[in-house]
Amino acid sequence: MDHGKTTLVQALTGVWAARHSEELRRGITIKLGYADTAIFKCPKCAPPQCYTTETECSKCDSPTEFVRAISFVDAPGHEALMATMLSGAAVMDGALLVIAADETCPQPQTREHLAAIEIVRVKNLVIVQNKIDLVDEKRALESYEEISKFVSGSIAENAPIIPISAQHAVNIDALIQALEESIPTPKRDPTKPPRMHVVRSFDINKPGTPAKKIVGGVVGGTILQGKFSVKDEIEIRPGIRSTKKGRTLYEPLSTEITTLHAGGKVTKEAQSGGLVGIGTLLDPSLTKADGLIGNLVGKPGMLPPTLSEPTLETQLFERAVGTKELTEVERLRNGENILLDIGTSITAGNVVSVKGNMVTLKLGRPVCAEKGTRAAISRKLAGRWRLIGYGILK
Ligand code: ZN
Repeated sequence: MDHGKTTLVQALTGVWAARHSEELRRGITIKLGYADTAIFKCPKCAPPQCYTTETECSKCDSPTEFVRAISFVDAPGHEALMATMLSGAAVMDGALLVIAADETCPQPQTREHLAAIEIVRVKNLVIVQNKIDLVDEKRALESYEEISKFVSGSIAENAPIIPISAQHAVNIDALIQALEESIPTPKRDPTKPPRMHVVRSFDINKPGTPAKKIVGGVVGGTILQGKFSVKDEIEIRPGIRSTKKGRTLYEPLSTEITTLHAGGKVTKEAQSGGLVGIGTLLDPSLTKADGLIGNLVGKPGMLPPTLSEPTLETQLFERAVGTKELTEVERLRNGENILLDIGTSITAGNVVSVKGNMVTLKLGRPVCAEKGTRAAISRKLAGRWRLIGYGILK
């Protein structure tokens, strides 16, 4: 399943596997993966043959016209993807629900993916019936019927179902056409106060760089709203941990944007969509080795408060995600330790109060998050953290 998904994104972007393996080689634990591509249209050919990711038409050799850029968000593994979707770490304008034609539908993972899509309310959907190269026509039709029946009555009821083979790049043009028709580019409001989740942070200086040539720390992430420009003053919350009189506290960081990277290019301003890199004047020792993951970036004084004892309205699943034995989810208990994914922050929390669905936690590390933010909730089951539900910040 995950393999099929990776092959699909690779068929659309050509870069996915390479970038992923580089991350793995560098030993970085990433929650979010990104692959950027651009959609082009041949002015001479008819749909769907006119749609391509190439700058030249493979049918008639005409130069193609740029339509729009697309960023695919993914996460390594099923549970990580689910947590990413539920945590609000990524801006999702639409979703591809990938279902393999050679397996009966729904598989437990597919059921969970659709449930997550319903929770997050991603309305713009395309269903991809993958691996049609592995089945005969009879099975392909049967699989199509299973999928239609499965999504009937759900948020995906009216989503187009596009049969493809990612492995052999069959029908990719039809899939791009469906993306164009079913997932329109949303109107962004650049006047909202800007917010960015930090997905990674690093020190780009090579060892031994002379002091004069050292550049400031870099933070990478996803812009939720608004826009950032070079020379903007920014604030980063909750910031860095310090100890004062034996008490642990977090101090926000203030700095200035020196450079911006978006979609693989240097730019003067950046808005939501895809992964953005922000160069700052911060001491690179603060940003090295993903030291600022989980922080929120905004304009000074315009970020939500830092919370150490949040209350969440929780909604637990019937069964824990990813458990083979289909473990039933019991209610949250006072004193229990759970794990929260809020934005790109992952923090342990101790349950200090349970009133119906309202649960208050004492967090190991505070989070900077707004009311209404969604958090994924995991519980340790048989020695592993398992996703058991989500909560909305009150
Ligand atoms: Zn053409």
